[in-house]
Amino acid sequence: MNLSRGLGLRACLLVGLSALLLSACQFSLPPAAENELPQLGAPGLGDRLYPGLGNGGYDVTRYDLSLTVDVEQNSLDADIRIDAVATQALSRFNLDFYGLEIDALTVNGAEAEYARAGSELQITPAVPLTESVPFQVQIAYHGTPEPLTDGSVGIDSLGWQTQPGGIYAASEPNGSMNWYPLNNHPSDKAAYTFSVTVPAPYQVAMNGVLTAQTATEMDGKAAVTYTWEMAQPMAGYLTTIQINQYDVETAETAAGVDLRNYFPAETPESVRDDFDATEEMLAYLEARLGPYPFDAYGVVLLTEDVGWALETQTLSIFPPRGGPEHTVMHELAHQWFGNSVSPATWEDIWLNEGFASYFHLLWTEETDGPEAFQTAMTNLYLQLQATETGSPIPADPSELFGRAVYYRGAWTLHALRLATGDEQFFAILRTYYDRHAGGSVTTADFLAVVDELAGADAVALVEAWLYDEQLPAMPGE
Ligand SMILES: [Zn+2]
Repeated sequence: MNLSRGLGLRACLLVGLSALLLSACQFSLPPAAENELPQLGAPGLGDRLYPGLGNGGYDVTRYDLSLTVDVEQNSLDADIRIDAVATQALSRFNLDFYGLEIDALTVNGAEAEYARAGSELQITPAVPLTESVPFQVQIAYHGTPEPLTDGSVGIDSLGWQTQPGGIYAASEPNGSMNWYPLNNHPSDKAAYTFSVTVPAPYQVAMNGVLTAQTATEMDGKAAVTYTWEMAQPMAGYLTTIQINQYDVETAETAAGVDLRNYFPAETPESVRDDFDATEEMLAYLEARLGPYPFDAYGVVLLTEDVGWALETQTLSIFPPRGGPEHTVMHELAHQWFGNSVSPATWEDIWLNEGFASYFHLLWTEETDGPEAFQTAMTNLYLQLQATETGSPIPADPSELFGRAVYYRGAWTLHALRLATGDEQFFAILRTYYDRHAGGSVTTADFLAVVDELAGADAVALVEAWLYDEQLPAMPGE
């Protein structure tokens, strides 16, 4: 429809030789915004570290994903409905999707043409999409997900993969596209519903709240469908699926947050105990930052022995050996910083890791006292100095999870705190969190709050810690 209007305008101008004709044409012109020709949606968002990730031209509001998983075969049959709103008139748009075979694809109920190249899925709807109008994509697909390797971040295997006795997905920064098509960038967050059927006795743990668990059948054998709802916006890299056999340990905090930990059946008591302080940590964070952002929290332990933990939204992933206390605090603090307030670009990753690291250090102050905390901060500073750690703004993906991002990031906040005092410092963090909860931010959004509450000198201090190649002098030295 937009296309024919556009052509009509051109024809009108061509024949508009007399003033009378031209004015008649102008009289019939539609408003300027509706007059634009549908364009191709950009195949990437121009993220400096990952230019091809994400796609332009639309905003996703909800993913509704149904999976039937053959756990033994590590294969899935899937149906996804993506609700989005066009942010421009679109003749074509992309999703990010890697591997797996597409069986059917419609846009607004009509079969759509598509083409695939690498992780780009290019979709041409039968009827172009109108700016600001919601649209719906439905895709049926199946197959065995292929783990992604991202050499740039030094991670061998991202996204959906197998583990002893089951399956899991861990995806930061880009792995989710190996099990469902999405706008794969943290600047486009959305609500999620997952409905996953697995053969008994497997269980499924995912993000959000388990709203239904229904007995069914797969190939004539007993199976269960688990429905998980993530009502608050979530970045794609924070989605997880965990399939194994678990003991589920539940509790409820005084503030009404549901706690549910998923321990593989063989997990020893001593490992389960690593997470006993979760409720106390939640209370500590809530006192400083405001209510926990989501309806539930907990951890899931892998059966594969990995060397990391990950703050997947409402359900952090830990290795089979559990975690030291500071890691338990680190992943919990990410629920505020990283998950509720997400980075708008990957170069803003210090807003995740610097903040979560500072809170795990603050937990040392809370549990071991100010002296232990001060020693820890001094030691970190000396390490940063000895290793000539540069700016916490990564220059390329290999620096995404580097020491500078985590610990010079944490020191950036510590330097601000030393300059402003505790009251103003925590007011800055709380204001920044309140203002951007559920959204995606850049470093400039944080600096704007620093400026508002603490002024230009505080901004200059933070900027020196963030952008100077040279490590600033240790405050007080
Ligand atoms: Zn972290």
